[in-house]
Amino acid sequence: MTTIRLGLVGLGKIARDQHIPAIAATPGIELVAVASRNARADGVSNYTDLAAMLAGEPELDAVVLCLPPQVRYDTAIMALEAGKHVFLEKPPGATVSEAQALAALASQHGRTLFASWHSRYAAGVPLAKAWVAANAAERVTITWKEDVRHWHPGQDWIWQPGGFGVFDPGINALSILTEVMGAAVRLRDAELQIPSNRQAPIAARLRMQTASEVPIVAEFDFRQTGPQTWDIVIEGRGGTLVLSQGGNQLMIDGAAQGVGVEDEYPGLYRRFVDLVRTGRSDADLAPLQIVADAFLRGRMQSTDAFHD
Ligand code: NAP
Repeated sequence: MTTIRLGLVGLGKIARDQHIPAIAATPGIELVAVASRNARADGVSNYTDLAAMLAGEPELDAVVLCLPPQVRYDTAIMALEAGKHVFLEKPPGATVSEAQALAALASQHGRTLFASWHSRYAAGVPLAKAWVAANAAERVTITWKEDVRHWHPGQDWIWQPGGFGVFDPGINALSILTEVMGAAVRLRDAELQIPSNRQAPIAARLRMQTASEVPIVAEFDFRQTGPQTWDIVIEGRGGTLVLSQGGNQLMIDGAAQGVGVEDEYPGLYRRFVDLVRTGRSDADLAPLQIVADAFLRGRMQSTDAFHD
């Protein structure tokens, strides 16, 4: 089978930390070019933007976009119109309607669109999903609290409209939630705390429920110093499940479960290779829809100014 020739756009933190090593570790796909306004990658062709990369690499099969959400749409449209398969970092767009438009365009051009949710590939998620299916969830509590200064230093885009603020990590929890519950999740109400000098929330509280009225509460906070918390607790008829470390550790009724090693980005690339080879797309927008609903339905509260 031929190898997928891939171009990467946006050489920032996630591209360097995760994408480049994961591509190198995945059979069937090869990084041949990078487009970056400011940086260069070793061992591949380098371009300053996607248009130059498409012109210089006519043999490219696919493009992965590791850009902030605000600039993802225009780049994705350009790649799809050039006939390339597209792998989107999360979130798949700055709005639901632009993500839907990308899915429609990919289908029209017969190309793969992969709206990736890396946390769904965390080691504990498949077992958690199976447990929920067998144990009828009765209550879900999500606590996703991290230090924005540590994880997102100098990322101004995160505080701008379309940057999502604390929903940038919070949407990862929602991607796991919507994967494991096996039922649609509806937002009931939300509170969003927005620093007086910023455009996006630094903390949020969401109340959600499933169609069968299982209550779900999520607390997101970007001001956590000390130990970081990325936990989902699911109480069910058969006991209590705790998914921690962003989905990579799992305890059931206090007993640690063997879930294997963390393998999120290699898992994403194996999925992308399979989608391209089988001519399919994967663009579930449920986590993005819940975030959009929180902005639509939430009470906005101004809070202390935030300085990086
Ligand atoms: P980042 O370090 O700020 O990198 C984003 C890159 O996009 C920049 O380095 C820049 O690359 C390019 N870019 C193009 N237009 C830009 C613009 N107008 N403003 C800022 N950058 C622009 O961000 P990141 O952490 O890699 O995050 C990128 C995406 O990956 C986000 O959607 C985020 O949610 C997702 N993600 C991040 C993490 C994480 O831990 N950081 C984890 C999972 C997913 P060039 O200078 O090369 O053009």
